[in-house]
Amino acid sequence: MVQSALTLPNSFDLIAAMSTAQTTNDEFRAQVRAFFAQEYPRDILAKLANGQTIGKADLVASEQALAAKGWLAPGWPAEYGGPGWNITQRFIFDEEMGAAGAPSPVPMGLLYVAPIIYTFGTQSQKDRWLGDILASRTFWAQGYSEPEAGSDLASLRTSAVRDTNTQGDDYIVNGEKIWTSQGHYADWIFCLVRTDSSGRKQEGITFLCIDMRTPGVVVTPIISIDGGHYLNRVSFTDVRVPAENRIGEEGLGWTYARHLLSYERTSYARVGAKWRQIAEVRRHSAAAPWGDILAGEDSALRSRLADTEIALTALEYTTLRALAPLAAGQAPGQEASTIKIAATETGQAITERLLELAGPYAAPFFPDRADPDWREDLETIPAFAPVGTASYLFERAQTIYGGSTEVQKNIIAKQLGL
Ligand SMILES: Cc1cc2nc3c(=O)[nH]c(=O)nc-3n(C[C@H](O)[C@H](O)[C@H](O)COP(=O)(O)OP(=O)(O)OC[C@H]3O[C@@H](n4cnc5c(N)ncnc54)[C@H](O)[C@@H]3O)c2cc1C
Repeated sequence: MVQSALTLPNSFDLIAAMSTAQTTNDEFRAQVRAFFAQEYPRDILAKLANGQTIGKADLVASEQALAAKGWLAPGWPAEYGGPGWNITQRFIFDEEMGAAGAPSPVPMGLLYVAPIIYTFGTQSQKDRWLGDILASRTFWAQGYSEPEAGSDLASLRTSAVRDTNTQGDDYIVNGEKIWTSQGHYADWIFCLVRTDSSGRKQEGITFLCIDMRTPGVVVTPIISIDGGHYLNRVSFTDVRVPAENRIGEEGLGWTYARHLLSYERTSYARVGAKWRQIAEVRRHSAAAPWGDILAGEDSALRSRLADTEIALTALEYTTLRALAPLAAGQAPGQEASTIKIAATETGQAITERLLELAGPYAAPFFPDRADPDWREDLETIPAFAPVGTASYLFERAQTIYGGSTEVQKNIIAKQLGL
């Protein structure tokens, strides 16, 4: 019933189509695998394998290694610098990147704002921003949410008023964005701002790109429950933004924002990385000082891990089906909501298995994992326990970000006419 109402393509058709091109796909997979094994920066993989956190310099190095190969923006049309891969190749690339343990490129520039720029931007905006994103020379942040506007995003109040002293060539922006992922790394932030309050709340919203170095922009860290600094508040006090930084028409920002959200939600699947995490649960169990819990045939953990693997397999097939509109050159449809929910639940389930495996050592504590010797004080505790605990705690947020699970269910129900 869900399938027909959402007009999802049949996964078996896709799998059949994939297998006819099996040889080519196998060759492509081998090429990608060899890149991650031989050309990709070893130090980044080593840091992550050591449980260390990585910062902006590593993320840029990772992205620039992909950019040098022409592989940083698999989803972009070839005319803007995409590699021209088909949907299967993009899926394989994603799987291999995750399986290698490499970090996904930061999505805010590449995945979120770039499609808005090349779909709705002017030629000079494309020339100005796309090249830098494609070469990982600039970092972008997403300025949508506000303290009183999250799920109900259209209630946003950050204002942008035309400066009459400059004949309307500048906007003056005032307000506050919150939960801004990696805003402390960003050179640019794309924001939804209110330029008119007279109509429906979805009207009068405008899409503005703001240089983070502009006077009046202040970034304040928010430390999350895992002890990490990923989130921020970004406040704007009389920030002057040239009108040429506006994407599309004034007041039509909501249309562009909705287009972007479908790309965002489809990006959460990360199937390859999840398979790698499951393999790691097995590896950690086999090496645990208290014995291999998963080896026991009546192990409840083993049975729950099998459930998680089944859920991940379902996510894998669902992702292929939901990506099908992209193959036809269309934006992802509302099916993206099913991916968001399934990816969230599966990702959280994997970290729950890690936590169960760690047992009492899962009690949260936060060593400084930017220090390469962070394990020294923890001799008696397997390293996966603090790493797993941190990821368990942070993964809770996935139920909320990118549109909460409840909101995704509302979207699906609406699609079904419920
Ligand atoms: C880790 C993380 C990273 C983020 N990164 C960014 C970012 O980079 N840029 C950005 O702009 N934002 C970002 N966000 C913000 C995120 O998009 C919002 O948190 C999200 O939209 C929810 O809004 P809220 O926090 O205001 O919660 P609320 O909207 O207040 O929701 C609170 C609760 O009420 C429920 N609820 C709300 N409305 C309904 C409804 N109609 N029906 C049923 N239930 C409902 C929600 O499901 C939730 O459980 C991030 C959030 C997190 C946690």
